[in-house]
Amino acid sequence: MPRDPRFDILFEPVRIGPKVLRNRFYQVPHCTGFGTDRPGAQARFRATKAEGGWAAVCTELCSIHPETDRAPRPVARLWDDDDARNLALLCDEAHEHGALAGVELWHGGPTTEGSASREVPGAPSQIPSDMNPLSYPRSLDRAGIRELERMYTAAARRARDAGFDIVYVYGAHSFLPLQFLSSFYNKRTDEYGGALANRARFWLETLELVRAAVGEECAIAARLAVDARGPHGIELDEGLEFVRLADHLVDLWDVNIGSITDRTADIAPSRCDDQGWQLPWTGRVREATAKPIVGVGRLTNPETMVEIIRSGVWDLIGAARPSISDPFLPQKIAEGRLDEIRECIGCNVCLARALDHHQIACTQNPTAGEEFRRGWHPERFDRAANADREVLIVGAGAAGLECALVLGKRGMRRVSLVDAAPEVGGYVALVSQLPGLALWAGVVDWRKTRLAKLPNVEVVAGAALDADAVRAYGAQLAVVATGAHWAADGLNHLTHAPIPGAERTLTPERVLAGEEPAGESVLVYDCEGYFMGVGIAELLAARGRRVLYVTPLPVVGPFLDHTEEGIPVRQTLADLGVEWAVETELAAIGPDDCLLRSFGRERTVAADAVVLVTARISDDALYREVRADPGPLEAVYAIGDCVAPRLIADCVFDGHRLAREIDAPDPARPLPYLRERRLVATGQLAAS
Ligand code: SF4
Repeated sequence: MPRDPRFDILFEPVRIGPKVLRNRFYQVPHCTGFGTDRPGAQARFRATKAEGGWAAVCTELCSIHPETDRAPRPVARLWDDDDARNLALLCDEAHEHGALAGVELWHGGPTTEGSASREVPGAPSQIPSDMNPLSYPRSLDRAGIRELERMYTAAARRARDAGFDIVYVYGAHSFLPLQFLSSFYNKRTDEYGGALANRARFWLETLELVRAAVGEECAIAARLAVDARGPHGIELDEGLEFVRLADHLVDLWDVNIGSITDRTADIAPSRCDDQGWQLPWTGRVREATAKPIVGVGRLTNPETMVEIIRSGVWDLIGAARPSISDPFLPQKIAEGRLDEIRECIGCNVCLARALDHHQIACTQNPTAGEEFRRGWHPERFDRAANADREVLIVGAGAAGLECALVLGKRGMRRVSLVDAAPEVGGYVALVSQLPGLALWAGVVDWRKTRLAKLPNVEVVAGAALDADAVRAYGAQLAVVATGAHWAADGLNHLTHAPIPGAERTLTPERVLAGEEPAGESVLVYDCEGYFMGVGIAELLAARGRRVLYVTPLPVVGPFLDHTEEGIPVRQTLADLGVEWAVETELAAIGPDDCLLRSFGRERTVAADAVVLVTARISDDALYREVRADPGPLEAVYAIGDCVAPRLIADCVFDGHRLAREIDAPDPARPLPYLRERRLVATGQLAAS
């Protein structure tokens, strides 16, 4: 389809200093877990977005020197020419697809612990890290400041030589330039401290030196959190004043909000904010500059993008998560294929993976991070060598839906996706009923829409199949994706046993199916520590129940801290009057009370009802029965929670993986993938 002329404005070129962006879609820096040491993965991941139409693709934070070392988190580095050579691959591949390449020069001050390099980072003042009070910086004297500025310029020259078009001096997320700018971090009394003009001095000098170092070959970008929304940075009036002070040194303002201790403000999960939530702050930057501005806000709706550009507040639509979820978002808008946009659901699993030092993964896009090592392309699927086969998939949750979609695209003669429930969606459909998680239904809805376009795929809901029915269906290949259920007896990771008295309890499925717990007080016992326990607690508290949330884990919902949902979720529970007990075991359940145990001490609490969120159990009986006796089937496979309960992202990946490799010698086992590693010949171990 031709492009809707309303969206033409999104495809206008934009000049930033000496460079021109081909359109207004800009992938802002974001973490991947690839850094510099996995150059193939880094390059292909960014290049796939470039191919999908993004006008610029940027690295994650890129360390300028060993003293700013984030080990074990794999970040990019420009410590020497070898690092530059590895990152040059990214530049080359981005350029091949017509995109500019940006690098985010980074020094973290005390947030860098030097655990690998064992160097001590410099900072404006000697105050321990916000993240680790055992990590102290050294306070920089004037000579130290000069030395640090030279680190920036050396890294900038390497960036230019590697082929980068845009060089950042990165100060958002409370990193070093912002630490100088903020009186919360900067307690100096010399010309680098005190009044804003003094606190701005380090960043201004560094921008000037970096500009001089790269000449007219690169555009200079500053990434600035214009309002920390808390103490760990600056407020908006200071942010605007800094923009005015530095404007003559900057070609592109990349602006956001929040801080290192409040990333929720910047990387807001969908349970907290809608698209474009940063505009009340970043939309004010235009008051201080006429230079190009890029902002972010999980934007996937082209109408909203057009409104923002027409309003004049930003020049570029920045994206991290929307570009991960759909690397081809710009191209789909350009070609009028809006219904094909795979929208980010705002779950922040991508962030959790990166912060936990793993490689990036995405709930919506199972190819994210797999472009190089597995050769997966988000939009291209080759015809399966066994495409003459018919496939029956039992279970239309996340794994089954994704598997059917990829098998359909790979041209299988017929794919039948059958589910016993009246609606497809499985666990995701259930989860999206929890407070704040409605957008997660996008995992199901997008796939349903895409499946409806495939003539070789039929989707049948409300049809329960037993083993005989599977064998008799007429397919040659069967895939069982029957999911998992919550343990009703309280089986858990702590005791590896049921909880005495669990007969009178409810499971999350029963609560979400509408069953009301008896009485007024409810105890929710959460051994998982992610969205389900807190979600049930919030749901019941919002209905007026008195809720006690008990967990053996050290905090309420610890995994939510990996997805930037922890603080807002705890705040919501507190606002609803939910009480909690952490590091506490539910030892036994009586007729109207519960026995709790914590550090060897026991106490009894009254509870009219108990909801157990302790462990999930795979529904694999059908798979085992058909596998034991496949009858006429050539093969039977299991995917998703049916194999082992796990993140929705991993279930989507599992369904995708099997479909990608359905014609492999043994589709049940993943094919080997490329590993980027250093190989040493016998007797040739050499330092490098
Ligand atoms: Fe969006 Fe979730 Fe994918 Fe991250 S993991 S890009 S938040 S859908």
